[in-house]
Amino acid sequence: MSDQPELLFIDGEWREANDGRRFAVEDPADGSVLARVADAGEVDAADALEAAVAAQAGWAATAPRERGELLRAAYELIIERTDEFARTISLEMGKPLAEAAGEVAYGAEFFRWFAEEAVRIHGRFMSAPDGKSRLLTLKRPVGPCLFVTPWNFPLAMGSRKVGPALAAGCTVVVKPAEQTPLTMLKLADLLREVGVPAGVVNVVPTSDAAGVVSSLMADDRLRKVSFTGSTDVGKILVRQSADNLQRVSMELGGNAPFVVFEDADVDAAVAGAMIAKMRNMGEACTAANRFVVHADVADRFATALAERMGAMTVGRGQDDGVQVGPLIDSDAVDSVTQLVTDAVHDGAKVVTGGTATGGPGHFYPPTVLTDVPAEAQINKVEVFGPVAPITTFTTEEEAVAAANATEYGLVAYAWTQDLARTMRLQESLQAGMIGINTGLVSNPAAPFGGVKASGFGREGGFEGIEEYVDTVYVALPAG
Ligand code: ADP
Repeated sequence: MSDQPELLFIDGEWREANDGRRFAVEDPADGSVLARVADAGEVDAADALEAAVAAQAGWAATAPRERGELLRAAYELIIERTDEFARTISLEMGKPLAEAAGEVAYGAEFFRWFAEEAVRIHGRFMSAPDGKSRLLTLKRPVGPCLFVTPWNFPLAMGSRKVGPALAAGCTVVVKPAEQTPLTMLKLADLLREVGVPAGVVNVVPTSDAAGVVSSLMADDRLRKVSFTGSTDVGKILVRQSADNLQRVSMELGGNAPFVVFEDADVDAAVAGAMIAKMRNMGEACTAANRFVVHADVADRFATALAERMGAMTVGRGQDDGVQVGPLIDSDAVDSVTQLVTDAVHDGAKVVTGGTATGGPGHFYPPTVLTDVPAEAQINKVEVFGPVAPITTFTTEEEAVAAANATEYGLVAYAWTQDLARTMRLQESLQAGMIGINTGLVSNPAAPFGGVKASGFGREGGFEGIEEYVDTVYVALPAG
C-alpha cells in the first residue's frame, strides 16, 4: 500500500534491523496492516548515533548557504509530491486527504523558513562597560540531536525539528511514532534524494521507544533532545537528560480554553471553533479543549456549533467528501467515550454525537456537550478527539480564572471585539500562545511552544533556531 522504503535509514543507507525484526503499521480506518517496518533495537540506534556523530563536523562546516539551499530543495520537492505525502499521512494517521495536504504545506514550510534562517545565524560584538575589553559572541551548532515525534502530524512534527537543526548545522536521529513511521521514512528518502549527506539525517522506527530512546540518551555524544508528545513521557525524558545534561525542548500536552465573550462576533467564533476543535479530528495539542462561553451568547454559540459539527461527514480519510477520519486507535476511542460518559454523569447534555460509531475502524462522531460542570474530568485532561464541552461564565474575571484553571499552558483562544479587553487578555492568559479572534495559531514563522506543564522551548520563528545553537563568548582585549 505504501511506496516508501520500510527499513531503517542509517548513514545514508536503507537497512534491516540488526535482529531482522519488523513491526506492523495499521490503517486506523479498518485495522488492516499497511506495512511491516524494520524495528530498530539498541544496536541500530547506536549505529544511527554513530553516523550522526561522524557526520557532525562536516555538516557544521558546510556553508550556511549550502545547508539552506538543500532545505529549500527539500521544500520544493515535498510540495511537488504533495499528493504522495498526503496519501501516506492519511493512510497511516487517518486524517482526510485535504487535511493531510494541508499538513504537507505546513510541514514543508519549515524547510523553506529555515532555509532562509540558515544564513542569518549570527553573534554580536560589543565594548565591555569599562571600555577595557571587547566581547564577542558566536553561535555554534549544539551537536547531534535526537527527535522523538508523535503520530498526529507525522510530517510537520518532524520537519519543524529537522528544518532548524539542519539549518543550524546539527545532525539528527529521528525516532518517529510507532503508529506513523511511514511519512518520516518518505521524508528521509526525499532528503537523501536532494543531496543531504549521509549520516546527517537518520531515522529509526521502533516498537521499543523507551529502550531505544534511553539507550541513545545514555550516550554523552548526543547533545540535544527535542520531544513532542505527552507530558508524562516528556517528564521521563527531562529526567533522563540529567545524566548527560543534554539540552531539551519539550512540546507537551495542552488543554486550550476557547473563550467567547459577550461582545464577540459569534458567527466568526463558531467558524473559528470549527478549526480549533475539528482540525485533525481534535487530535492536536493546540485543539480547543474546553469552550468557556458568556451566558448571554452560550445558547446561540452551542446551537450553531452543534449544527455544523453534526453535519460533518465521518469516514475513511481517503474517501471523497470525508471531513472527519478515524481516531488513531481503540484506546483513543475508549478514552473519549469515558470522558463523555463521565461528563454526562456529572450533568452535561449531549447536543450532537455522544456515542462511538462502532468498528471496524476507530471512529467517534463530532460531539457537542453543554452544561458541563467546570470540575468535570473532560475540562481537566487533554481530550484528543472531536468533542466540544461548553461551560458558561458571566464576568471577565471568571472567564480568565476558568481559562487558567489547568496545569497546561500551550494555547488559549479568546473572542472579543473589545480592544482594551484584548490587551488585558494578552497579559492574563497563562499560555505560550494566544489566539485572538482566530482558531489557528500554528505558523512556521512564529514561535510555537508552551508554558507550565505544556513544556518549554520554541519551534518555528526566529526563536526556533536558538534551540539548536550554543552561544560561545570570546573575551578580547581592547587592543
Ligand atoms: P501519545 O500518547 O500521544 O502516543 P506519547 O508521549 O506516548 O504520546 O508518544 C510520543 C512519542 O514518544 C512517540 O514517538 C512514542 O513512541 C514516544 N515514547 C513513548 N514512550 C516513551 C518513553 N518512555 N521514552 C521515550 N519515548 C517514548
